[in-house]
Amino acid sequence: MKFRYQAVERIPSPMEPGVVYHSKEFELAGLLCACGCSHKITLLVPDGHQVYEQAGGATIHPSVGVLDAPCKSHFIVTVGEVDWLPPFTSTQAARIIHSQIARHVARDAKPKPKARIERLRAVIAVIAGALAALKRVFFR
Ligand SMILES: [Zn+2]
Repeated sequence: MKFRYQAVERIPSPMEPGVVYHSKEFELAGLLCACGCSHKITLLVPDGHQVYEQAGGATIHPSVGVLDAPCKSHFIVTVGEVDWLPPFTSTQAARIIHSQIARHVARDAKPKPKARIERLRAVIAVIAGALAALKRVFFR
C-alpha cells in the first residue's frame, strides 16, 4: 500500500485506505492501518508524530505502532512507501503507552487557548486506546 498526503480541515469519517489525513488546525493526523485491517489510527501532531508531504507521498515520523488492534502492526511511512518493522514486545509497548499517557497528562492538563473539543476527544481516545492495550498486555 502507498500512502498519499492529504491536508484536511477535519479528519474525515470514514477514511480511505492509503491516505494520511493531516489537520493542522486540530494538530491531528488520521490513517487506516497499513496492514489492511481497517483499524483507525489517530496521531497527535506534532507532539507524537511529524506528518508531511514529500514528493507527492506522505511521510510519518517516527514509526507508527498499532498497540490497540489485534494486528499489532508496526511500520514507518516514507514518501508514501510502507516499511514493516518488528511488532513491539509487551515491554516496549508498555513503555510507549506510559510515556504517551504521561505526555498527554502533562501537556493537556495545562489550559491552552487553542484547545478544542475535537482535539481533546482525540487525546482521550488515544489514552483510552493505550489503556485498553495496556490491559491486554498485562491482564491476559
Ligand atoms: Zn492492522
